[in-house]
Amino acid sequence: MSVTQRLKCGLLGLRGVFGRGQVLPAATARLQHSNAEQSGQSAPTNRPETSSAKTMMDIGTRRIFGEEHDLFRQNVRRFFQEEVVPHHKEWEKAGQVSREVWEKAGEQGLLGILIPEEHGGIGGDLFSATVMLEEQMYCNCSGPGFTLHSDIVMPYIANYGSKEQIERFIPEMSAGKCIAAIAMTEPGAGSDLQGVRTYAKRDGSDWILNGNKVFITNGWMCDAVVVVTVTDCEVRAAAHGISLFLVEDGMKGFQKGRKLEKIGLKAQDTAELFFEDVRLPADALLGELNKGFYYLMNELPQERLLVAVIALASCEFMFEETRNYVLQRKAFGKSLAHLQTVQHKLAELKTEICVGRAFVDNCLQLHAEKRLDASTASMAKFWASDLQNKVATQCLQLHGGWGYMWEYPIAKAFVDSRVQSIYGGTNEIMKELIARKIVSQK
Ligand SMILES: Cc1cc2nc3c(=O)[nH]c(=O)nc-3n(C[C@H](O)[C@H](O)[C@H](O)COP(=O)(O)OP(=O)(O)OC[C@H]3O[C@@H](n4cnc5c(N)ncnc54)[C@H](O)[C@@H]3O)c2cc1C
Repeated sequence: MSVTQRLKCGLLGLRGVFGRGQVLPAATARLQHSNAEQSGQSAPTNRPETSSAKTMMDIGTRRIFGEEHDLFRQNVRRFFQEEVVPHHKEWEKAGQVSREVWEKAGEQGLLGILIPEEHGGIGGDLFSATVMLEEQMYCNCSGPGFTLHSDIVMPYIANYGSKEQIERFIPEMSAGKCIAAIAMTEPGAGSDLQGVRTYAKRDGSDWILNGNKVFITNGWMCDAVVVVTVTDCEVRAAAHGISLFLVEDGMKGFQKGRKLEKIGLKAQDTAELFFEDVRLPADALLGELNKGFYYLMNELPQERLLVAVIALASCEFMFEETRNYVLQRKAFGKSLAHLQTVQHKLAELKTEICVGRAFVDNCLQLHAEKRLDASTASMAKFWASDLQNKVATQCLQLHGGWGYMWEYPIAKAFVDSRVQSIYGGTNEIMKELIARKIVSQK
């Protein structure tokens, strides 16, 4: 038995059963990397890139992934096809997904992939978390707010939470039994995060929380929500007086408003949240007092990169959907794909998507090495989400009137795309962040 095989068996013996019997991608990827380093070889590069793959959603492509990620992708693809796709229409009508799908995702090890095992997470790598996101976009089912839960909220608890908070929340969140949300935005404060008014006042060792939040993903179903709160109004810069609190469903004075009716993301339970004299114990504070803004600035680049990952995967889905459509749709006695203008449009779209893919994969690689800076993450978010909207418009156009019909997947992908340039920091704010760095560097 080779060293690699023995190590793999060891990993399996420890905990490395991932999904239905696969080795943990993180552990194996680390293993492959260190073996390659030790032998002085670079990682294997015989995997086709998106531009040369048969389809953009093929398994076994792109050099950022390895074989273990491919196996994992097969499992995730099966999970979405079996547990999500058949229910999505019904969830769109209900404006929310089921509790069961969260628990099924938890049972299969698909939640909290990035969170270390010792904290109760899965201990996977960034590329495995990417697989999960991409597969959700490839099946065009935007309902389950898994990404926000696993890759946006859980890291706040794992990175800044106390031992007790980690032990209490992370295993339950990984199991899909505790659904997570994060509440930054308020009716009067979106882009300007320092303008939040939700306020917590000390009362002995407790805190009394008042305020309201809006547009909160997983807001209706959440069991725990990280609330961005002012804790000190006297500071010179508002950023120095902001803290994070973990507020739980069922606390007296915490009310969920209606599920908001949106033009897209129909199966996502985006909601308003209200806090009226909610008494919070001292241990509801997440991290240190008045460090909340600093934590947000630390975590937002990952959120922005993930928006870019979603954008590219959506572009790839829309492209393949459109390619299939123009190949079978007849006009003037031939398929649309025979028309040169249509062919050129597809050529343009494919080229732009592959250019975007190269940049986003590079950002993923940088982030895995902890070298992705905030400005580059903003570039990825802004450029990829703009591309997604462009691809959505042009792919829908190639579907003609059918593209405007809800029964056609491109219609759903089109409306779901629209929000990508708005949340996670609007694209105008992304340009502000990129520009700030440009002018401060000289
Ligand atoms: C479906 C959905 C899900 C969401 N999920 C969450 C969530 O889970 N948690 C959460 O906290 N929030 C969430 N949001 C909120 C989202 O992050 C905000 O909508 C976003 O940050 C923009 O804030 P705003 O809507 O208040 O717009 P505003 O800040 O009022 O902006 C309005 C317009 O002005 C522009 N603008 C503002 N300031 C500047 C500036 N300085 N320079 C140039 N242009 C500027 C903006 O770019 C935008 O075009 C979600 C929103 C949606 C729609």
